[in-house]
Amino acid sequence: MIEKVDHVGIAVSNLDETLKFYTETLGLKFDGVEVVSDQKVKVAFLPIGDTEIELLESTDPDGPIAKYIEKKGEGIQHIAFRVDNIQAALDNMRQKGVRLIDEQPRYGAGGAQIAFLHPKSTHGVLVELCERK
Ligand code: ZN
Repeated sequence: MIEKVDHVGIAVSNLDETLKFYTETLGLKFDGVEVVSDQKVKVAFLPIGDTEIELLESTDPDGPIAKYIEKKGEGIQHIAFRVDNIQAALDNMRQKGVRLIDEQPRYGAGGAQIAFLHPKSTHGVLVELCERK
């Protein structure tokens, strides 16, 4: 059901400054940005091998990424697993008693269908399920 690590989401305070580190210092390829307005986040894509780093900058002081940084500081915010059928994957998690943040899949950056599992059910990691066509 889970095919691979789709991406790792990293919360950052300043996208431009952070991008310099990832592209100039680490030498990763920058593959564009997207604003996902309903999640109040600006996402920068850095593909690496078969997976991707996503840098997440809040577009609003009330957004989930701003709140995350306020509480925990910058750093890895979530890990996303690619699934072939997100609805089936969600139903499966629900059946197994996993607490869901998203009861239904919703739009994610890059045109994916995504849903988050609650860290209380995953030993502390915010897990995203992600389906891409
Ligand atoms: Zn994500």
